[in-house]
Amino acid sequence: MSTEQNTIHEFDFNLICEYFSMFERQGPGSPEATLKALSFVEGLTADSSAADLGCGTGGQTMTLAGQLPCRITGLDLFPGFIERFKQNSVRLGFQDRVKGIVGSFADPLPFEKESLDLIWSEGAIYHIGFRKGIETWRPYLKTGGYIALTEASWLTNNRPDEIRNFWMEAYNEIDTIPTKIKQIQDAGYLPVASFVLPDYCWIENFYLPQLQVQEEFLKKYPGNSTVERFIEMERHEQDLFMKYREYYGYVFYIGRKL
Ligand code: SAM
Repeated sequence: MSTEQNTIHEFDFNLICEYFSMFERQGPGSPEATLKALSFVEGLTADSSAADLGCGTGGQTMTLAGQLPCRITGLDLFPGFIERFKQNSVRLGFQDRVKGIVGSFADPLPFEKESLDLIWSEGAIYHIGFRKGIETWRPYLKTGGYIALTEASWLTNNRPDEIRNFWMEAYNEIDTIPTKIKQIQDAGYLPVASFVLPDYCWIENFYLPQLQVQEEFLKKYPGNSTVERFIEMERHEQDLFMKYREYYGYVFYIGRKL
């Protein structure tokens, strides 16, 4: 995410990792939304393979692992997140079938082509762009395999300039739900389902837990302008969500490879 001036990528990776490692999840979401999306995925067995791309510390991966009998590989760019992911997997007793690996979900992925029955990705595909992501990842799915993603989407046909301009700067692929569904269809998937994440996935699960950590961070790094700017960005993003949440949100999209 970004503001008018800075993208998150301009900040020190270790700082971002330290900040977001303090949370169970690194983006808006909830176990209920993960399970609701999973309810549209059929036919997975103990022999199936799933990948969670941009898994972060694995909040949603562990929810999936509690329901699915199969192997799940979490992939993330940040070694610090994968370290926490592995600790979570061991703590919950999933370590024999839930693995975390450090790597990128840009092409080529560290999987065999046509090897995956399910690709999961919450709050991460925007890093390479929705259309590019669904096209790049498709060859790694078996025919009939599923893709389940959350993606920032407009909920209305019109929106105030302030929020439109913010998103054009932050992620100009944000679009309406029908447009995203058409993109899924055009990329060679059957659109199976879509639903909007409820507000609590953003407010109670994502923004509110950050308030205390922001105070702690500012105390831990007094006078550090990078930290101050980063937290200012996070707070600005939260303020915009509170003001404009009727116009945009995260939408879960579930598709099946044709
Ligand atoms: N899925 C987690 C969740 O919902 O809590 C994390 C979401 S977080 C907003 C986005 C994640 O994508 C981060 O953990 C980040 O490190 C990861 N990421 C960004 N670019 C990536 C890339 N090219 N390859 C793999 N992971 C990437």
